[in-house]
Amino acid sequence: MSPKRPWLENYGIDNWGVGYFGVNSQGNVVVYEDKDSQKSVELIEVVKAAIEKGGRLPMVVRFPQLLESRLYELAQAFKRAINEFEYKNQYQGVFPLKVNPRAEVVEEIVSTGSAYKFGLEVGSKAELCIAVAQDSPPQALLVCNGHKDETFLKLALFATKIGRRVIIVIENPDEVSLIADLSEKYGIAPELGIRVKLYSRGSGRWEKSGGEASKFGMTTAQLLWTIKSLKSRRLLRHLKMLHFHIGSQITQIKRIKAAMREAARVYAKAKRLAPSLSILNVGGGLGVDYDGSQSASISSANYTIQEYANDVVYTVKEVCDSENVRHPLLITESGRVIAAFHSVLVMPLIKQIDANNIPKDIVKLKPKKTDPDTLKELFEIARTVNAKNYREYLRDAIERREDLFNLFDLGFLTLEERAKGEMLFGKICEKTKNFITTLKDLPEEYNLLMKRLASRYIFNFSVFQSLPDIWALEQLFPIMPIHKLNESPVHHGTIADITCDSDGVIEQFVHPHAKKDFLELHETNDEPYFLGVFLVGAYQDVIGDYHNLFGTVDEVVVEITGDRAFEIRQVVEGDRVQKAVEVVHYDANKLSEKFLQKIPQDMDLEFANTIREAWLDGLDAYTYLVNPKTTPTDSE
Ligand code: PLP
Repeated sequence: MSPKRPWLENYGIDNWGVGYFGVNSQGNVVVYEDKDSQKSVELIEVVKAAIEKGGRLPMVVRFPQLLESRLYELAQAFKRAINEFEYKNQYQGVFPLKVNPRAEVVEEIVSTGSAYKFGLEVGSKAELCIAVAQDSPPQALLVCNGHKDETFLKLALFATKIGRRVIIVIENPDEVSLIADLSEKYGIAPELGIRVKLYSRGSGRWEKSGGEASKFGMTTAQLLWTIKSLKSRRLLRHLKMLHFHIGSQITQIKRIKAAMREAARVYAKAKRLAPSLSILNVGGGLGVDYDGSQSASISSANYTIQEYANDVVYTVKEVCDSENVRHPLLITESGRVIAAFHSVLVMPLIKQIDANNIPKDIVKLKPKKTDPDTLKELFEIARTVNAKNYREYLRDAIERREDLFNLFDLGFLTLEERAKGEMLFGKICEKTKNFITTLKDLPEEYNLLMKRLASRYIFNFSVFQSLPDIWALEQLFPIMPIHKLNESPVHHGTIADITCDSDGVIEQFVHPHAKKDFLELHETNDEPYFLGVFLVGAYQDVIGDYHNLFGTVDEVVVEITGDRAFEIRQVVEGDRVQKAVEVVHYDANKLSEKFLQKIPQDMDLEFANTIREAWLDGLDAYTYLVNPKTTPTDSE
């Protein structure tokens, strides 16, 4: 990172970008087709080109080449580990559709993953329908997890007749009888797996997915029972795979090692009872370092893909050797680590709300003789606060402000006096911050003051539709301006979306050393300004909801074809208002009829037409705000 632009460090892009994202000398964010490539494109140029092709902001920009690169990274890491530890079997991954079932994602993974025999994992009928219809190579696995009814099982069984290698994972002992009945009825012997519960747990937000109390997986007694049932239904020789999953985004490598040790031991012992077992499926959980800290913090992971692969391969080999059991084919169901990097949400600034920036003639900040004593004290603190006394004075100011609100509650203050108090407190914070910023070691008050002084920046997007994990899980995603990065950011703020929900905010941001409560932002001079939210390709696309009826956003699929050269492969239109109302079961035509009927018959014809047009435009509109100031221009 250029030492001439020290502020760039605040965004941490060199840490979380891991070679896929950077900033060029023009101050624009660039995207590389893979980690070692010199070919890059400017994100802002991609957005402009997408808009020329009809795309609108906010928009998700997808780079399928990053999916390919992640598949390669994962496959190579296992290849290296298998060679290094002389593991006597292979590795094959499956991509779990729940992580991102979008056609643009799954089709790319299927086509580029075929070189590594990459397969798919499904957990519902809809996911299964998508998966069975793909052109996967015959050796690629199709792992069927989750609860299954007869329709699901029939589809899974028949898929074997069209050349798919399907593994039906038994989640509960009582599933055996339906599987066996259907297998006999149609004369199809399915390959089977069993999902077990491990005593070991993961770490991080999804810790509860593992351990004894986890929702899925069989206890040891249930495993024995299932083996017995399979034997009695003459299906035991079809039991091929042992599966476990201890949770997504495992933050600590030591938890992975412990789970591998336990799972490999269960596999080796179970193989004595079911000799046909030959596959160990270690589930998902490989973490993404969203905050770039490479730590065990909740939005990070304290290990690399290579360390993960090494630990899986080495531990399974060690345990199997000690049990004198052949090394199994290793399967991962890693999803997040493959999909997260490939997409970026780009959103435009709508406006900045600065509570401290009030025209001078609205509230005059001059002391008056009639001011209550508390206000006079705040004036005095604002006048005399300095680098030596700021700690004591700031504490006093906080107390005086409390007093002021109490006096207001009791009816002793006017609105003007209350406003003066609020503004004086803002002034004291601003002065104190300026003293603190010059200190070598930032004191603990710094973050508090920055938070208090942060402006709200309203961006055109919905947290609930595009970044649901920020709201639901307090997940951190890297967020930064995608241009103007040659200029030092002079503002700091938090982000609000355009929903009418007070939870529709982003108030925590990644930082190279710890998370921070504000984001550094630039002077915009009233020109379009854009933020990118990075690493949003896993889970966000499908968990997002229609809160406030903001629908899906426009998407563009981009291929990087050379240095600064790219092609927009596809523009996928986000929801129009009509679709958003239909999602909640209104018939848009009936709504139109009802509305248009209400226009009075005796209304001036021209005005009635204007209303009619406004209604039709409304139904046809993008659900997000459309504003020329939020579109990039060539002067960007
Ligand atoms: N496999 C199963 C059974 C899961 O439940 C999940 C998600 O939690 C995954 C795989 C994907 O996990 P990740 O995205 O962390 O790799």
